[in-house]
Amino acid sequence: MLGLMMQTPLLLSSILMHAARSFPDVEIVSRTPDKPDHITSYSGLLERSSRLANALDSIGIKPGDRVATLAWNSYRHLELYFGISGMGAVCHTINPRLFVDQIIYIINHAEDAVVFFDLAFIDLVHSLMPQCPTVEAWIYLGEAGDAKIVGAKGFPSYEGFLSGCSEAYAWPEFDENTACGLCYTSGTTGNPKGVLYSHRSAVLHSCAAALPDACRISLDDTVALVSPMFHAMSWGMPYCATATGSKLVMAGQNVDGESLHRLFEDHGVTFAGGVPTVWLGYVRYLQSAGVKPTTLNRALIGGTACPASLMETLQDEYGVEVLHGWGMTETSPLATISKPLRKHMTSSRAERRSRQVKQGRALFGVEIGIRDGNNRKLPHDGKAVGDLVVRGPWIARAYYKMPESERADGWFFTGDVVTIDSDGYMQVTDRSKDVIKSGGEWISSIELENLAMAHPEIVEAAVIGIAHPKWDERPLVLAVRRQGARLEAQDLLTFYEGKIAKWWMPDDVLFVDELPHGATGKVLKTKLRELYGNRDSA
Ligand code: ADP
Repeated sequence: MLGLMMQTPLLLSSILMHAARSFPDVEIVSRTPDKPDHITSYSGLLERSSRLANALDSIGIKPGDRVATLAWNSYRHLELYFGISGMGAVCHTINPRLFVDQIIYIINHAEDAVVFFDLAFIDLVHSLMPQCPTVEAWIYLGEAGDAKIVGAKGFPSYEGFLSGCSEAYAWPEFDENTACGLCYTSGTTGNPKGVLYSHRSAVLHSCAAALPDACRISLDDTVALVSPMFHAMSWGMPYCATATGSKLVMAGQNVDGESLHRLFEDHGVTFAGGVPTVWLGYVRYLQSAGVKPTTLNRALIGGTACPASLMETLQDEYGVEVLHGWGMTETSPLATISKPLRKHMTSSRAERRSRQVKQGRALFGVEIGIRDGNNRKLPHDGKAVGDLVVRGPWIARAYYKMPESERADGWFFTGDVVTIDSDGYMQVTDRSKDVIKSGGEWISSIELENLAMAHPEIVEAAVIGIAHPKWDERPLVLAVRRQGARLEAQDLLTFYEGKIAKWWMPDDVLFVDELPHGATGKVLKTKLRELYGNRDSA
C-alpha cells in the first residue's frame, strides 16, 4: 500500500523561495578585490535569480541546456546557481585553474550554450572562444561599463543581460530527478569526467550536511563560502546555507590567511569549509600576526587528509572545532564526517585525537564498505585494507555521457584505499594511485605525511614512492620547513623512530620551498612523482 503524502518534488527553487519567504533580510556578503563588500539578502537573491531566469528564457535556453560559469565565489555566481537550475537548465561550474585544453574538452563535452565569466578570465575566454563552437554567448559578470576597463569590449555584460527583465518568475515544477548541476572531476588520469547532480540529490545532501552531527548549520550561523563554487558546488554549502537561512559570506578570489582572517572578523563568520592548505595558511597568519579568531567556531576540513597538528592548533589554541569530512565530486561531496560517539566522550585526549584524524562515519543516507581486489567484502575491523565503495541518494550512479560507467552492483568505487573500524570510522590510508608498494606490502603515504606535519618545524609535507631496485618503491618525504627552522633530514627521520614500523621508515627527506598544488588546492603528487619519482634510492 502506498502512503498518502504529497509528492512535492525536491527542487532547488523551493530552497530559494523558502529563504526569501522565511529569511528575506538575512545578508549575503561578497568580497570583491577592488570594490567595497557587496551586500544583498535572500529576498534580493530571489529577485535577481528570477530576472536571470527570465533573461535565459528570452534567449531561448530550454530545460536541460547546459549553462556554464567560469567564476569565483560571489553573489552573481549564487544567482547563476539558482537561476539556471531553477528554470530547469543545468548549471555547469568550470574550474578555471585547469589546463586550457581540459577546459576546452569540458565545454565541448558538456555542449555548453552560454558561458558566464568573471572579467579576471578574459584572456582565458579569448583562447577558449575559437575552440568551443557550441557556446552561443559569452557574458561577463559585471556592469556594462566594466568591459572598457579591462579591454573586453564587445562582450555583453551580466547586468545588461538582466536589465529590463521582470523580477517575477513562475518557477516551474518538474521531476526532482532532473539534472541541476554539472561538475567535472580534475581528471588526474585521462579526460575529466562529468558528475551530473540532480535537484533531489542536491536538496537531500543539503539537509544531511546541515544536521547537528554533520556540519550543524543553522540560522544562527554565518557561513563563509571559501571552497570555490567550481569545486563540487562549493561542497553543497550554498544550498545548505540558503535552506537554513544562515548569513552567507562569499570569499571571492583571495583565500590567503590574512584575507580570510579579515573576512571572518569583518562579518562574524562562524563556519567555513576548505582544504587543509587553506587552513594551514590561515593558522600560519594567526600565529605570525599574533591574532585570534573571535567568531569562527567550526571548520570543515577535507579534500585531502587533515593533519593532526592542524586540528590541534585550531582546536587547542584557537577554540575552533575541526569537522574532518571526506568526500568527492562524485559524492556531492559530503559522505562521512569524524565525530566522537557518546561512548567516546570519556576517552583520553590522545584517543579522541587518533579517532578524529580518521575520515569518520557515514552520514545518514550514505552507506560505505570495503572491497578486496576481487570485489569481495572485507570486514570492518579497523585492520582490513581495501577499496572504499559508497552508495546513497547523492552518490553518482554514472558519469555524464558514459553509460558504461554505471556498475551493475549499485556501488560507486572511489579509488580510495581505506580501513573501517567496528564503530564505522573510515580511515583513508591512500588514494589507490598514491599507495607506496614496498616489498609487496603497502605503506600509507597519508600516515607518513601526518607524522611529518606533527613536527613543530614542518609546515607542509608530501610523501611519494620512488623506484627502488629491490623493494619496488620506497617512501620519500618532501617537506616545507617553517621559516628560520634548522631542521635537517636526519632530524625528521629520528622523529619518525618508534612511531612507525621500521620498514615504513622513509629513505630520505628533501626540503623544498613549496609544494605544487593542483586546481582545487591539493598537493599535486603527480607533479612530485614526475620531478622526484625516479630519484635513485638504494
Ligand atoms: P580531485 O581531487 O580528483 O580533483 P575530488 O575533489 O573529488 O577530486 O577529490 C576526491 C578525493 O579527495 C577523494 O577520493 C580522496 O582521495 C580525497 N579526499 C577527500 N577528503 C579527504 C579526507 N578528509 N582525507 C583524505 N582524503 C580525502
